[in-house]
Amino acid sequence: MNVNPKRTIAELKELRALTSDENGAQRVAWTDTWLKAREWFAAKVKQLPVEQHYDAAGNNWVTLPGASRKSLLIGGHLDSVPNGGWLDGALDVLAGLEVLRRIASEFRGQPPVTVRLVDWADEEGARFGRSLLGSSAFAGTHSIEADRGRTDRDGVRLEDALRRCGVEIDHFPDASKEQKDAAAYIELHIEQGPVLEHMDLPLGVVLGTKGVERHIITFHGQEAHSGSTPMNARRDALAAAAKLALEIRPIAKKHADAVCTMGSVKTFPGIVTAVVGRCEVTLDQRDLDASVLAQMYREAQEASQRFAAEENCTVNWSRLWNIEPIKFHPHLLDLCEQAVRETSGNSHRMPSGPLHDAAEVSRAGIPTVMMFVQSLKGISHNKIEDTKEEHLEMSIAALDCLASKTFAWLLDS
Ligand SMILES: [Zn+2]
Repeated sequence: MNVNPKRTIAELKELRALTSDENGAQRVAWTDTWLKAREWFAAKVKQLPVEQHYDAAGNNWVTLPGASRKSLLIGGHLDSVPNGGWLDGALDVLAGLEVLRRIASEFRGQPPVTVRLVDWADEEGARFGRSLLGSSAFAGTHSIEADRGRTDRDGVRLEDALRRCGVEIDHFPDASKEQKDAAAYIELHIEQGPVLEHMDLPLGVVLGTKGVERHIITFHGQEAHSGSTPMNARRDALAAAAKLALEIRPIAKKHADAVCTMGSVKTFPGIVTAVVGRCEVTLDQRDLDASVLAQMYREAQEASQRFAAEENCTVNWSRLWNIEPIKFHPHLLDLCEQAVRETSGNSHRMPSGPLHDAAEVSRAGIPTVMMFVQSLKGISHNKIEDTKEEHLEMSIAALDCLASKTFAWLLDS
C-alpha cells in the first residue's frame, strides 16, 4: 500500500475550514480553536491501531507499537500564529498521519520498529512569546522559572492558560520520559522562505537550524538643540547607529547563508528639534556555522566601536538571547537526500533560518533530519501562505520514502 497524498491535502483543507476565519488560521496554542483542532485530529487517529496520550507538557503522542520498542518519531505542530497559514506545522502532522496509516496497513498493525507521531504543543509561542515550548520540555532544555511569569496580551498567565488545558507547568520535566527508545526523528515542513522557489526545486534537505545571536546595542551621544549645535560639534548617536545598520550587510555577505538584521531603532529624545542623544537598536545574526556566527558577532562589535568613536559617542551591548547552531544527523541527511532525489529527481541542501521543534529533538541527542517543501513567494505566518498541490503531494511521498529508509536503517543498527 502507498500513501495517499490527496487524502492529506483534503484533510488539510478540512482543518482549515474548521479552524480558520477570513484572516487565516487561528489555531493559537492553549486556545479553544487549538483544542478543537486537536479534537478533530484525535478522531482521525482513532481509526488506527494506536495508543494515544498527552505528555506532561501537552505534546500529543500517537504510538503504533512495533516488534522492537526502538522508535521512529515523526513530528509537527497543529498550533499556528494568529492569522496564520494553512500549512505551517499542520502539513507535518497530517503527512505524518498518512505515513503512519501506510505503515500500519503494510505491517498489519505490527511493524518491526515502533512508530510514534507527535503533535508538539505550542511550537509558535504566539501567545506567550516562548517558541518550542513542548519540544523543549521533551528535550529537557526548558526552564520553568524563566517561563512561569509570562503573561499574554490580556494579562492571562501562561501557567493558568496551560492549567485550563490540563497541563501543569511544574510537571514539564516529566515530558522528557518520552525520549525513551527514541532512535530517530523526521519532520517535513514548508520552507517559509524563497530559496527553493528561486532554484525551481520542489523539495530540499535541511542541514540544521542556524545559531542566533540577538543583542540590544545602545549608542550614547549628547542631546543638543537642532538649531544651535553646529554640525562639527555634534555627538549624534543615531549617526553611529545608522553606519552600523549599513555595515552589517557586508559583514553577513562574506558568508553564503549568513544573515544579519537590524529590526528595531529607537531614538531619544526622539523629537524633530533635537540631536539624538541615545539610540537603541537590535541586531539579530544567524548562521549554521558557530565560527561564522562568532566572527560576525565580533566584527559587528568592532564596527560599532569604530562608528561610536567616529561620531564622538560611546556604545554598549547587551545580549537578548542566543542559541547555538544545530546540525542534523549526517546519515539521516544522506537518507533524506536520497528520498528527495528519488521523489523529485533533484535535491538541494540548505540551512533553516527559522527554528523548529526538530532542533530541540536534535539537542536531546536523537538523530534528526528535516525536509522542506517549497513555499510560494516564500511567504508564511500569513493567510496567503501556500504551496502548489503537486509539490505538497510530492512532499508527502518523499516523507514516506524517508520514513522507509529510516526504518531500514533502524532495523540494521
Ligand atoms: Zn512551523
